[in-house]
Amino acid sequence: MPDRFDIVVAGAGHNSLVTAAYLSKAGYRCLVLEGRSILGGNVVTEELTLPGFRHDSCGTAHVILQDSPMMRNDELGLAADYGLEYIQPEIVCHAPFLDGSYLTQYHDIERTVEQFAKFSKKDADAYRRMYNEYDAIKPLFDAASYTPIGFGKPINDRLNEHPDGKKWLRRQARSAWEIIRDNFEDDHSRCFMLWMAFQTVTPPEWPMTGRNAYSLAWGRQRWSWCIPKGGSGVLTEILVRLIEKHGGTALTNKMVERLIVENGRCIGVECKDGSSYRADKAVLSTVHVKHLIDMAPHKLWAQDFVDGVETYQGGPTLFVSHYATKVPMTFKGDGGSTTPIACAMLSEPTRALRMGYDFARGAANVEEPVLLAVSPTIGDPTQAPPGHHTIKIIGMQPYDLKEGPLHWDTIKNDVAKANLNWLRKFSPNLTDDNILATVVESPLDLERRNPHNWHGSCHGGAQNAAQAAALRPAPGWAQHRMPIPGLYQTGSTTHPGGSISGGPGRNAAAVMLKDFGTSLDDVVKRTTGAKPAAALAK
Ligand SMILES: Cc1cc2nc3c(=O)[nH]c(=O)nc-3n(C[C@H](O)[C@H](O)[C@H](O)COP(=O)(O)OP(=O)(O)OC[C@H]3O[C@@H](n4cnc5c(N)ncnc54)[C@H](O)[C@@H]3O)c2cc1C
Repeated sequence: MPDRFDIVVAGAGHNSLVTAAYLSKAGYRCLVLEGRSILGGNVVTEELTLPGFRHDSCGTAHVILQDSPMMRNDELGLAADYGLEYIQPEIVCHAPFLDGSYLTQYHDIERTVEQFAKFSKKDADAYRRMYNEYDAIKPLFDAASYTPIGFGKPINDRLNEHPDGKKWLRRQARSAWEIIRDNFEDDHSRCFMLWMAFQTVTPPEWPMTGRNAYSLAWGRQRWSWCIPKGGSGVLTEILVRLIEKHGGTALTNKMVERLIVENGRCIGVECKDGSSYRADKAVLSTVHVKHLIDMAPHKLWAQDFVDGVETYQGGPTLFVSHYATKVPMTFKGDGGSTTPIACAMLSEPTRALRMGYDFARGAANVEEPVLLAVSPTIGDPTQAPPGHHTIKIIGMQPYDLKEGPLHWDTIKNDVAKANLNWLRKFSPNLTDDNILATVVESPLDLERRNPHNWHGSCHGGAQNAAQAAALRPAPGWAQHRMPIPGLYQTGSTTHPGGSISGGPGRNAAAVMLKDFGTSLDDVVKRTTGAKPAAALAK
């Protein structure tokens, strides 16, 4: 291993790896230090249950990522040079209902529209209209997401300049619930749309969730339940290969505990095992801001940063059970039965509203729980032994139970059982003898797995109006440059937030490269010849 590095990276989530990949391409040597025994953060594929069963431990769907300039223009050559491939199943998502009916989303929009038409012609038209409306405005939202704060216009300015933008100013400020209620008349359609709108774990009745009424269904319609061939973790494995190919190194079991600050500048980090590493140019962190702030004396942080981090909230979180099975999830569907990659369970529209209430009062959701069940082996059978499957059931639960977060250790198996039994109501073949092994992770376990899942949040913190764009992670400090010179922050505590988007990673790279006297566009042009997303970044 070389003894000098330009950049020391604390934490190896997909975002910090994306930043390091752009910096590596620009010629900077990166040392990545990951606290866990595996690189990739929430984008990893592991044999969690049994040998041969490769589970996506956290994120599976790489839908949002597909619209990033990194993927659209293959700026890092992940597809061309490293063979990253995506699978887009024709059956995207299947929603079974208690009355025996169902709504299947197909990748072919006409087939999806027909599914809505079974319930209401008006709703079928609304689905197509909303898809087209969002399709027309989406480039503006993408431009705002994939531009660092202060490097281009904020979304409201962009909308104000667009002929239809005024409508969207109102739409984004409303709640997803209001928009879905007003556009769809049938409860089946409303259930499907509300469930979709909930997929970034932000309750649909919250203000400023209006865009979610469009964007989540649009993303899955456009890209399907898009997964990387080989498993979610293939993305981060490839990013590490790229960094190493450019002279970088990635080390595991290196929990960063302290920032080294000399003459007011962050010049390296110290790890729990006593090792320390120095950076010639800069330190990049994806350590959660709630932890980062304790890694240097408080007087070194600006007071408004301290205030912003103190008031930063965790928000709703997930509860996950992984299963190794002998059978696929099988539901009543077109042609008699269907085996989808994803299943959406929401019993009736107002059930979605109770989720936010249950988060607030710290109650576990076990009655008719709102669930997502995903089985990546339907799209990519190589992830399990022949004929076998991996299934992941995800519920949404509060980290802060009224009895305290530790209570999760007492109730988690009961909650997992309730979720499985609810899925069995629609897929009765998932009997005990067809399940070979189970691993359950409560919100508390998700935090234990990855300290960046602070208070269990899979998005680095609540994605609400108080923590969006220029307010993430703290008002005045959204530009990836931290109050201590030489220290940069990426990951889901920064704009545009959580999910597998690569946005925080690419934005941090743009800021760092500018500070180093070049630009991301120049690096992309120089290293790949690809047309950079310059128009997007203005
Ligand atoms: C169960 C689950 C399912 C999900 N499903 C999806 C999905 O299908 N699609 C989607 O788009 N999103 C999904 N998400 C959300 C998404 O996976 C995350 O928002 C995203 O991956 C976060 O990426 P990141 O780069 O910000 O950081 P992370 O992936 O959180 O990585 C941060 C890394 O930093 C390391 N670290 C933290 N502190 C230290 C330290 N002090 N020293 C050294 N290392 C440290 C951590 O160990 C971790 O490896 C899901 C999340 C969960 C939990």
